[in-house]
Amino acid sequence: MISVLRVGHRRGRDKRVTTHVALVARAFGAEKVLVDAKDEKLKDTLQSVSRRFGGTFEIETGINWRNKLKEWKGVSVHLTMYGESLEKVIDEIPRDKDLLIVIGAEKVPADVYQMANYNVSVGNQPHSEIAALAVFLDRFTKGKWLQKKFDGNIQIIPAKVGKKVITKNEKDK
Ligand code: SAM
Repeated sequence: MISVLRVGHRRGRDKRVTTHVALVARAFGAEKVLVDAKDEKLKDTLQSVSRRFGGTFEIETGINWRNKLKEWKGVSVHLTMYGESLEKVIDEIPRDKDLLIVIGAEKVPADVYQMANYNVSVGNQPHSEIAALAVFLDRFTKGKWLQKKFDGNIQIIPAKVGKKVITKNEKDK
């Protein structure tokens, strides 16, 4: 199971970015997002997406991130532009253990670098936690996230033009 730990979420200011972090996590193969600051609104938004589009996804807010990372029994990967290169380490990271991916908002506290099993860079330029997470998950799952089945009430059928959407009741007819 893949979980994402969001460190440094500021309610209000980071609302949109953290929502996108969680949406990317859910779509790209993670099953859980843990956010340090308590934010019920964020939780409601993601639960509403999951209710409509399906899948098993959990979001917890108000997490003591330091304890979570320190006590993590699986493997932890901190995404940072200062880390080892993604291409170098991606195949070293065990795939048979629970994975915790740590991403920051602003500068993360220095002890994150010591506590994580791997510090991994997605290129060495500063960009975004959303982009870093998406690229990392795509490489880590070897693109398999695209086959993930959500079986939601709403299903989008890829279309050349326009929007093709079916709802569960229509599927059952
Ligand atoms: N100035 C901050 C610092 O020194 O850590 C950068 C904050 S950046 C806007 C927010 C998060 O995006 C970082 O904590 C990291 O998780 C992620 N990030 C940004 N660029 C990255 C890169 N090139 N590789 C991996 N992660 C990156």
